[in-house]
This record gives sequence, structure tokens and C-alpha cells, in this order.
Amino acid sequence: MIGRTSEAGVVPAALRTSPPPRQVLLNPGPVNVDERVRAVLRYPDVCHREPEAAELIRNVRRKVTAVCGGGADHAGVVLAGSGTAALEAVVSSVVPADGALLVLHNGHYAERVARIVEVHGIARRRLEFGWTRPFDLDRVDAVLAADPGLTHVAMVQHETSTGMLNPVAAVGELVARHGRSLLVDAISAVGAEDLDVVADHVDWCVGTANKCLEGLPGTSFVCAPRHRLDQLATVPPRTCYLDLGGHYRSQEHADAPLFTPAVQALYALDRALDLTLAETVPARSRRYAGRAGRVRRHLVRHGLQPLLAAEHRASSVTVFRLPADLGYAELHDRLKAAGFVVYGCPPPLDGLCRIATMGRLSVAQIDAFLAAFDAAVAAMRAAGPAPGRSAG
Ligand SMILES: *Cc1c(COP(=O)(O)O)cnc(C)c1O
Repeated sequence: MIGRTSEAGVVPAALRTSPPPRQVLLNPGPVNVDERVRAVLRYPDVCHREPEAAELIRNVRRKVTAVCGGGADHAGVVLAGSGTAALEAVVSSVVPADGALLVLHNGHYAERVARIVEVHGIARRRLEFGWTRPFDLDRVDAVLAADPGLTHVAMVQHETSTGMLNPVAAVGELVARHGRSLLVDAISAVGAEDLDVVADHVDWCVGTANKCLEGLPGTSFVCAPRHRLDQLATVPPRTCYLDLGGHYRSQEHADAPLFTPAVQALYALDRALDLTLAETVPARSRRYAGRAGRVRRHLVRHGLQPLLAAEHRASSVTVFRLPADLGYAELHDRLKAAGFVVYGCPPPLDGLCRIATMGRLSVAQIDAFLAAFDAAVAAMRAAGPAPGRSAG
């Protein structure tokens, strides 16, 4: 039993009820996890430089490679940190001093890639299509043809800020045809969207534990061809902690982590990967899409409009426009009070409502959410326009 005092010390005040509230997370990660994943937090404490930790890391590296579609010529590298850590490790490590990166830009997470390149002073070019707009591959083709100095291309597979699924296979084919190297932020895609690093010509694939792989936050990873990872030895690192080549050489050749890994998050990812590979990615995609479809049909019946046309949407995220009489902040708070956490959008889409059906969510939970949504809307409409709530 946890004593009252110590529990009050570690549990956030809002969660200090008995029993603690179970929040249904409809944000795009971290997600609600399977109890078999949560159970690994009871596994023994281990030293990260002992054989048992080496075995854990080897297993996770092998399974993340498999889930990305990599074979014997590919390797995984695991890192401590959220998805952005792995993204920054790739972006800062793979572009040589005389290279340049083309960022395909149609949302918030492409902007993050652009920010990382800028922070590291790497030569870059942004190709902007506009938020919510699909890539124009003819423009990509023309830019690559015109500028041979662009050695690398970066794209986000699932642009989580809008729910847009960008076409990895088509971009991969184009980038390979131009003989350039492709970096893919697959952080909110891997585990639930079609992705095959071999068939899609992806050189650097970035993923994380706590989105569609349904693990716990704290660890992220990269999957890449071994020969590309070996070549990193020729690029001087721009950071010490996120030196991808250093992490690879340590994990691959010394069978040991470079720095202290997030051991418990790795146990959880190992278990979560087993569950993902057993379910299969196509089946998980259908599970997420089925729940998203339930949400979409219900909200559309109530007059809400999805931001994107159906053919552009990823399986797991839908952004809805809210009518003027439904303010996002109040809607969020009413749903939270009922146990459901929805998510907003970053500027310029602030005020819109994002609903993710990632993670372990039962159909019954989705239906309970939709009932709570209807109740929140009815209460807001009955209360009439509040000061400050009217559309600006
Ligand atoms: C979540 C996410 C990230 C990384 O966010 P972290 O908070 O660092 O995990 C990066 N790219 C995309 C597309 C994402 O959805």
C-alpha cells in the first residue's frame, strides 16, 4: 500500500481520487496502453551495462526494424527521449557539411524539422504547399532537378497537426530517381500506416514508442540501411548526445548503449512491439480507422465539418472545424470533466478540435465519448453565448 502522504506527494492533485480517474485519451499520443504493456513497469530494475539490458536493446532494435519493413540490411537505433529526440538525431547527423536538406512542408511537424535544420545551421530549402494541402510532386521533381546541391529530402508521413497522410511511396520513388536521400518523420504513422522502408526507398525512418506502437513515452528510434549508418562515421557530429552515428556504433558494435537508456520505456516498447507485430499493422490501421469512422460519421451528422477531404486523412486523427457557438476551450474542459481528453490544434488552426483514435480504445469507449460530446454540446447551447465565448 502506498501511504497517504507519499501518494499525495507523487500523484498530481487532479488524479488524487479513489479510485483514480481513468482518462480516455483522444490526443495523438501518449496513448492509453494495453495492461500487458503497463505491467512491465513491475519488471526488475537492471543495470544498463549488464547482458540483460543488452539483450533488451537488441530485441527492441530488431523489432523496430521489422515494424518499419527493414530486413537484414537495415538496423534500428534506440534513443532515450521523445520522438523529437530521434528526429533531431537524424537531421543533425546525416547531412554532411557540403550537403543541404529540402523540407517538404505542409504543417506543424514539417515546421519542426525546418526548425531543427535551422538550429544546427544546416543548409536548407523549404518547399511549402500550405497547411492542409497535399504535396505537389511535380514541384518536388522540378526543385530536385534544378538544384543538385539538395542532397537530402525530409517529409512527415502523417502530419499529425492536420491529420494529413503524405505519400511516402511516391516521394520515395521520386527522391530515389534523383539519387538523393530521404528522411521520413513517421512518428505518428509507424504501427498504423502503410510503411515499408525498402519498397518506399526510405533511408532514414524516425519513430517513437508512445503513439501508434502503443508503448509508454520516453524512448524513440531510427531505422536505416546499415551502409548509411556506417557512413555516418565520415560526418563530424553536430551534437554530443544526439550523435546518431555514435549511438549506432555503440549499440551495433559494442552491444551497449552510449548513454543511460530509458530502461522501463524499452521494456514497455518491447512488449508493445510484440503486440503490434501480432496484431499486424494493417489490422491496427483498420482498428484505428474503424473508430475514427465512428467519430467522423457521428460528428458530421451533427453538422461538424472535417478539415480534410476523406482521401487525405490518416487512419488515426481527425481535425474538425467547430461552429461559432462551440468554443474549443470550453468543449475541451467539459469533455475532460467527463473523462475524455481531446486535443486542440497549433496556430494557424487554433480553435479547431483534434480527435485521435490511437491507442487501446474500445468501441464502447468511443460511443461513451460521443454521448459525452453530445451532452457537452447540448449544455453549451442551452447556456447560450457566454461573455468571451462569441466568435471573434
Ligand atoms: C508527436 C510527433 C512528433 C514528436 O513529438 P514528441 O513530443 O517529441 O514526441 C514529431 N512528429 C510528428 C509527426 C508527431 O506526431
